[in-house]
Amino acid sequence: MLKITKFGGSSCASAEQFRKVKAIIEADPSRRFVVISAAGRKNPKDNKITDLLYLCRAHVDYHVDYRPIFEIIRGRFLEIKHELGLNTPIEDELDACAEKVPDLSVDELVSRGEYFTSKLMADFLGFPFVDAVDVVAMEFDGTFNIDKTTENLKKVLEKNDRFVMPGFYGRTPDGAVKVMTRGGSDISGSILARCLRADLYENWTDVSGFLMADPRIVKDPKNIERITYAELRELSYMGASVLHEDAIFPIREYNIPIHVLNTNRPQDPGTLVLDKIDDEVDGPLITGIAGKKGFLSIEVVKRNMSNMVGIVSGALDVLRKYEVSIEHLPSGIDSFNIVLAKKDVEHNLYEILADIKERIAPDSIRVTEPLALIAIVGRNMNARAGSSGKLFTALGNAGVNIRMISQGSSEIDIIVGVANADFDKAVRALYQSFAR
Ligand code: ASP
Repeated sequence: MLKITKFGGSSCASAEQFRKVKAIIEADPSRRFVVISAAGRKNPKDNKITDLLYLCRAHVDYHVDYRPIFEIIRGRFLEIKHELGLNTPIEDELDACAEKVPDLSVDELVSRGEYFTSKLMADFLGFPFVDAVDVVAMEFDGTFNIDKTTENLKKVLEKNDRFVMPGFYGRTPDGAVKVMTRGGSDISGSILARCLRADLYENWTDVSGFLMADPRIVKDPKNIERITYAELRELSYMGASVLHEDAIFPIREYNIPIHVLNTNRPQDPGTLVLDKIDDEVDGPLITGIAGKKGFLSIEVVKRNMSNMVGIVSGALDVLRKYEVSIEHLPSGIDSFNIVLAKKDVEHNLYEILADIKERIAPDSIRVTEPLALIAIVGRNMNARAGSSGKLFTALGNAGVNIRMISQGSSEIDIIVGVANADFDKAVRALYQSFAR
């Protein structure tokens, strides 16, 4: 059994967390390839090392002394080292890094969070440390060179049958360090799982997998024990943030399951993410509910547009010109709505509206805001009738006005748009109706 085992920042935030990681690794001899994030928050008032490193950079950019911030970072690492009685000589490297902060690229600087955390973890586990720059080959645009990474891994495995590797960064063809998007260590684990054709990718975090709804909105939502990649993608996109949404792509093709587990409660079943799940006939109708606020809808009315050509595409051309991505496009006979993320048009909404007016001469054009989108996601919805009926009834009974509805062609999700103010109420009503 070949497993990739990744631990997130909260699992590496303190000596106490390091001990939990060690117990997990020692409980299963197949946990030999370990990916580590930068130490996260020890408590809600604390800071993540990665954030502090970005903050150092901001100090340099604004000509403010960054050293006090770097001292905090240094202190966090040395505290872990001393509490665990480790020998790794990181002091000199930390001092050298502190000197070089103004000259390092942003990417190299922030990658030091994962680098030092992994050095300490490797020492504590008694595993060799393998640097991500010697393994993860990235292109300048942030995509991965899988062949080169596989080749690098082969070389590493000639000398090591186990290792600890920092997540979140790799090396571009010119030798420079490049970081992934935030939370990217999930992707590093996934890349290793793919290149080594692992049997399982374990992703250890601080929650026991995915919940059917956001626990800040719904009290004690049920745990999702099994979910497909496709469902997870929909839920992550709509705001369920346990795993980086791009962590699925590298392993999807090889059908490698991801097991999301809780470092603080290793006995919990967690969530198993699989390519396909063959459900019994009475499998759950929905897998989860997720949603996001912060959308707006441009409502365009043009009489008789169903007999004209180029009206919708004219409006979309304008959005392409402004490089705005479209979330949804529900349409009627003489009207259509363009649903967008508000942040994407914050600075040029009125220019966009004026351009659309000029281009397609609508009878009316107006913006409704603010809008929240809620997705109910379930692989079993396409096989059964009545999901939308149930959804309308639940929202109707809760007094929530549906402003938009859309169903993807794969029929694994139904998305509704409601007023921002109705968001929590709508999520609760849907959970009560579908999950209870
Ligand atoms: N340390 C990085 C971040 O905070 C990457 C990670 O934790 O996965 O985003």
